[in-house]
Amino acid sequence: MRVVEVRERAVPIASQIANAYIDFGKMTASVVAIETDLVRDGSPLTGYGFNSNGRYAQSGLLRERFIPRLLEAEPEELLEAGGENFDPHRVWAVLMRNEKPGGHGERSVAVGALDMAVWDLVAKIAAKPLHRLLAERFGDGEPAATVSVYAAGGYYHPGKDEAGLVEELEGYLGLGYTTVKMKVGGVPLTDDLRRIEAALGILDGDGSRLAVDANGRFDLPTAVEFGAAIEPYGLRWYEEAGDPLDYQLNARLAESYPLCLATGENLFSMQDARNLVRFGGVRPGLDVLQMDPALSYGLTEYLRTLAAIEAEGFDRRSLVPHGGHQFGLAIAAGLGLGGNESYPGVFQPFGGFADGIAVKDGEVGLPEVPGIGFEAKADLFAVMEAV
Ligand code: MG
Repeated sequence: MRVVEVRERAVPIASQIANAYIDFGKMTASVVAIETDLVRDGSPLTGYGFNSNGRYAQSGLLRERFIPRLLEAEPEELLEAGGENFDPHRVWAVLMRNEKPGGHGERSVAVGALDMAVWDLVAKIAAKPLHRLLAERFGDGEPAATVSVYAAGGYYHPGKDEAGLVEELEGYLGLGYTTVKMKVGGVPLTDDLRRIEAALGILDGDGSRLAVDANGRFDLPTAVEFGAAIEPYGLRWYEEAGDPLDYQLNARLAESYPLCLATGENLFSMQDARNLVRFGGVRPGLDVLQMDPALSYGLTEYLRTLAAIEAEGFDRRSLVPHGGHQFGLAIAAGLGLGGNESYPGVFQPFGGFADGIAVKDGEVGLPEVPGIGFEAKADLFAVMEAV
């Protein structure tokens, strides 16, 4: 059993949306395909991956370093004992050969795309859906039948007023979501409060059904002021108030804001995530951790992150991955996490879940197909197959 060919292509996932920090008009992603010498149904067995959203395609790193390392490895270096399947941990070690520790940058995004394809392959060779394989290897044996998902949207858009925001969020409720998230921090506080109140107007005034996301925009005084202003609403969570690497800011904010804070989507390694829970004032049982396995060296590293966080006293239900993709959903179901993000209609075709499985009461099921389930999402699989 060996890897025959690895291909990468940069594809657009541009959207005419903006958060408090960036607009997504030129966003791209890498799609990778790892082809093996195994044959299933007359075709070479192939694993697919991509690098979530928000960090652009990683074509240079993939083509210059990581794909050549994978192709130069001896076939048996990539396999589990007995040679029955690929071993993602051994593949990961090959990919990271001659990489110094620390300073993770965006190589974690490149490795994450390949690691996703490796796990897709491993589950396909085992002839199981990834969520089932993960529950058997690392969970309690049986995956969750459904995963709690929330609709992330509420972006800023030129000319979009409160009526436009409400219309968008009502659309998510109509799709079966019960909890929604909206962007904040891109306009003055009084304007954001008016947007939040408009959103609460269609949620029966129930703050536990609304999260807000500042995308790292605030300094500490602004973050504290914003927190004090929204505290009376009792929101589901207050996300990425300040710079994702400013652990002291998060810790100080947690001293003044008594409700749930969420962060972690821009931490790309086990060591960074562990520093957050050690030094960022994150409160077990209250706060939410959003590391995205696809952006942060893949599921192989995410398993180490999970172990590190549990060792610091956190329950895995505190983890709700960023990204709104099928990989995160399979991991959440298989490992028993607290939920998964979802971007209805945005970041297509990478965002969203299997065709024909609707969200119901804020929960979504998973397809029983081998691998991550890309073959059950026609628009995404068409892009992958072309690669
Ligand atoms: Mg966010």
